[in-house]
Amino acid sequence: MNGVAENLRRIREKIAEAALRVGRKPEEVKILGAAKGQSTEKIREAVAEGLTLIGENYVQEAEKKKPFLSDLSLTWHLIGHLQKNKAKKAFELFDLIETVDRIEIAEKLSKLCQKTGRRLPVFIEVNVGGEENKKGILPEALPELIRHIKDLPGLEIRGLMCIPPYFEDVEAVRPYFRRLRELRDELQEKFDLPALTELSMGMSHDFEVAVEEGATIVRIGTALFGPRTPKK
Ligand SMILES: *Cc1c(COP(=O)(O)O)cnc(C)c1O
Repeated sequence: MNGVAENLRRIREKIAEAALRVGRKPEEVKILGAAKGQSTEKIREAVAEGLTLIGENYVQEAEKKKPFLSDLSLTWHLIGHLQKNKAKKAFELFDLIETVDRIEIAEKLSKLCQKTGRRLPVFIEVNVGGEENKKGILPEALPELIRHIKDLPGLEIRGLMCIPPYFEDVEAVRPYFRRLRELRDELQEKFDLPALTELSMGMSHDFEVAVEEGATIVRIGTALFGPRTPKK
C-alpha cells in the first residue's frame, strides 16, 4: 500500500488531468480529506504535504480528534448528517457545514450565529438521485428551501453538496454531478446569489468525473488515507 503522501500526489495529478481535459484550471479544485475512521497520524501525514481541508461525518469524532491537531492550521467541514440536538456542538467545532438540508436546521444555525455574532458558511446537501434512504433535499424542493433560508441572519449559502447513487461504472454517475452543477447555476441566477459558487462532489471512486463536471471540492477518504477503521 502507498503512503498518504504518495496518494495525495497521485490524486493531485488526476485532478489536474481531469480539469485540463475540460478546460478548467487545476487550482479551482480543492481536496477535502474525508477523515472518518482515520487516525490523526494519517491526517498529519496529509497535512505535511499541504492538505488543509478536513471533513468529518460525526460531531463526536471531530470533537475527539481536534485537540490532537490543534497546532495545525486546518479548515473543518461537517460532511455528515446533522441532527438538531448536535447543532450547537457542530457550530462550535466546524468552520463550514456542508449538509444543511432542511429549514429547521438552518434556523437553528442562524440562531447560533446571532447569539455569537459569527457568520457561518454552509452548503446545501442535495439528494440528486432522489434516493429514499439518503439525506439531502430533493432537487425539486431545493428552490423552496433556498427561498426560506437565504436571508437568515448569519448564514452564507456558499455551495451545494451531493452524494450521488453508487455505480461501479463512473460514467453512470456523471449525469448526477452535471445535475448538481446545473442546479447551482439556476439558483445563483434565480435568487441572485453570487456567493453560491462551490460544488462539493466526487469521492475516491469517482472524483475525476466530478472534476470534469465542475466540482470545486472533492471529498477523498480511502484513496488518500487508506482503509477506514470501522466505527465503534
Ligand atoms: C466517507 C465519505 C467520503 C469519502 O469516501 P471515500 O469513498 O472513502 O473517498 C466523502 N463524502 C462523504 C459524505 C463521506 O461520508
